[in-house]
Amino acid sequence: METCISDKATKTELEHIAQILAQREANKPTFESFEYCEECGEEIPEKRRQFSKGITRCVDCQSIVDIKNKGVIRR
Ligand SMILES: [Zn+2]
Repeated sequence: METCISDKATKTELEHIAQILAQREANKPTFESFEYCEECGEEIPEKRRQFSKGITRCVDCQSIVDIKNKGVIRR
């Protein structure tokens, strides 16, 4: 009996971890980067687009967003 219960618990835990990992994977930007910046419409250099997936802004706009995000998240 004891073994059965712990087995169940372990399975649930593993399922939970698998779920978290799947969620993390889903949150990763996997879509192709935008050709043009969504903020200012400036063309995003191909090198930048190839560097990372899911880029939607040019360097200037991204740095502004990063600064804004840093301002919001206070640690
Ligand atoms: Zn831009």
